[in-house]
Amino acid sequence: MDILIVEDEPEIARLIQHTLEKEGFTCRICRDGLNALSAVQEQLPDLIVLDLMLPGLDGLEVCARLRQKPGVKDPYILMLTARGEEIDRVIGLSTGADDYLVKPFSPRELAARVRALLRRSLRQAGQSQVYRTEHFVVDADQRSACRLLPPHPAENLDLTALEFNLLSTFLSQPGRVWNRTQLIDKLWGNDFFGDERVVDTHVARLRKKVEIDPANPTFIKTVVGVGYKFEDGTA
Ligand code: CA
Repeated sequence: MDILIVEDEPEIARLIQHTLEKEGFTCRICRDGLNALSAVQEQLPDLIVLDLMLPGLDGLEVCARLRQKPGVKDPYILMLTARGEEIDRVIGLSTGADDYLVKPFSPRELAARVRALLRRSLRQAGQSQVYRTEHFVVDADQRSACRLLPPHPAENLDLTALEFNLLSTFLSQPGRVWNRTQLIDKLWGNDFFGDERVVDTHVARLRKKVEIDPANPTFIKTVVGVGYKFEDGTA
């Protein structure tokens, strides 16, 4: 597993490298966004630890440019942000990052988040699972998700890894009510640290991509006081 660390502060970059190498990952370090883009082109990493505040191209721009490239199997992106307020802004922007970590973080927290992301990728690789409902098809093997909602044209949904896994989870059991803890367990495993409301943020982002009117969702419903459920007819 190859990890690209994009961080302009040498001490933090070394700490990340040290932490992840102890976990058995191979690490490369870039100090700025442009170098990061060429490093990705040189050799596609499995995961990128991407600092938000970088000289030149910042983390948001790097993320956007990576996600624009069609046909490339996307590396997972773990975004590092400096403050609590910043993370709300960043998540609101639909950057395409798969997960976020707020500085200062502990090495243990970082290792857990990285393991959770890569474990998902391993789990997906071993799966051959297709979920169908009346209006959606998700293929875990191909990592493709499609919405079929006439009269709208059939649409391949452009989802981050996390959004993809969230939609797959919903489609695996239509009608089931999920609380946040259960969804966290599905998405991050029991290594999760942090605030449960991160689930709400990712649900909001997924709704923007699957619902016709995200403010009045017809598929991903809020169950007040509990969590969420996905409703759609059977295919
Ligand atoms: Ca920085």
